[in-house]
Amino acid sequence: MKVNFYTSLREYNEKKGEFDKAIQSVIEKGNFILGEQVTQLEKDIQEYTGAKHAIGVASGTDALVIASDILGFKDGKEVITSPFTFLASASCIIKHKGKPVFVDIDEDTLQIDVNKIEEKINENTVGILPIHLFNQMSDMDKIMEIAGKHNLRVLEDAAEAFGMRFKGNSGEYRHSGTIGDFGVYSFFPTKTLGGYGDGGMIVTNDDNLAQLVKSYRVHGASKKYHYDFIGYNSRLDTLQAAVLSVKLKYIDEAIKKRENIAKLYIEGLKDCKNIRFPKVKGDQHQVYYVFNILAENRYELAEYLKKNEIGTSIYYPMPLHLQKSFQYLGYKKGDFPVAEKIAQEIIALPIYPEMTTEEVEFVCETIKKFYRK
Ligand SMILES: *Cc1c(COP(=O)(O)O)cnc(C)c1O
Repeated sequence: MKVNFYTSLREYNEKKGEFDKAIQSVIEKGNFILGEQVTQLEKDIQEYTGAKHAIGVASGTDALVIASDILGFKDGKEVITSPFTFLASASCIIKHKGKPVFVDIDEDTLQIDVNKIEEKINENTVGILPIHLFNQMSDMDKIMEIAGKHNLRVLEDAAEAFGMRFKGNSGEYRHSGTIGDFGVYSFFPTKTLGGYGDGGMIVTNDDNLAQLVKSYRVHGASKKYHYDFIGYNSRLDTLQAAVLSVKLKYIDEAIKKRENIAKLYIEGLKDCKNIRFPKVKGDQHQVYYVFNILAENRYELAEYLKKNEIGTSIYYPMPLHLQKSFQYLGYKKGDFPVAEKIAQEIIALPIYPEMTTEEVEFVCETIKKFYRK
């Protein structure tokens, strides 16, 4: 049995009529840039997440860069973040010459270790950039408490976290991205809410910050051809917004199906002594964007699964502080032992709403067979 790591085709074939109609409606109107489908999606995402403002941009990466620019994560200022994430979570700080300051991760949750943040704060620190990674949110209670105490801005990288909610001290479940000053989502095709190309969104509850994002995405213009800032050319494509509107209609169902697949994996692999699962901390509503295991002989396991036509992925094989592009920051091997260890053990298994029970069971059986060898 061949099991793809991901495919968009099953969902497309299931809802072909709806997707085709949505795409065609844009082409027939010709409203390709900031058409009404973008405005509608922004409204729908405000409603879904409870964010006061949602502003579509060209990608999750752009969303991070624009938000960092507006929050002053630049010009030598320091921003505390995790080295165990996708490049864009830290390159957005560097883009305008800010300095990412890394803090190791919590071994159980793989999120930033909130107990190590405060020791890195100095008079140059302006922000914290938590990443809600894989399937759970970082400890937003602690992060907001530290930020409040030290007057720091918080940018939530919720690129992978659409649909996740965190309860904590507020007593109510709040969506990822809506707790800090800004939150960003990515609509990269594999993401929980993924388009048919690149796309992203910035959410905020602050009217002034929202106004700035709206201006920054159109070159810093306050009105057409009147530029108050040096901004960006970064809009969510109308075609993507149309596709995403179809997907958003079924998002709760899709999240539920992901959860069911995760449960099947946990059930199927729970007796396998050679692997561990990351743990979830805090009262939160998880979303399984990816399903990771921490595995003995990870490289050999990955090879074995590949030979058996099972797609896997490694998020992330090299923590950011060891990347060549970040060498100038002066970090070295051993600086973040937890992130470095997890990078050797972690492997992501296929998960998407249209996966069948038989496929999940086949993956579990193949993993167990590998360790029995
Ligand atoms: C996907 C991702 C991004 C970038 O999003 P793009 O839309 O691909 O630019 C940023 N941060 C994290 C953690 C991601 O997983």
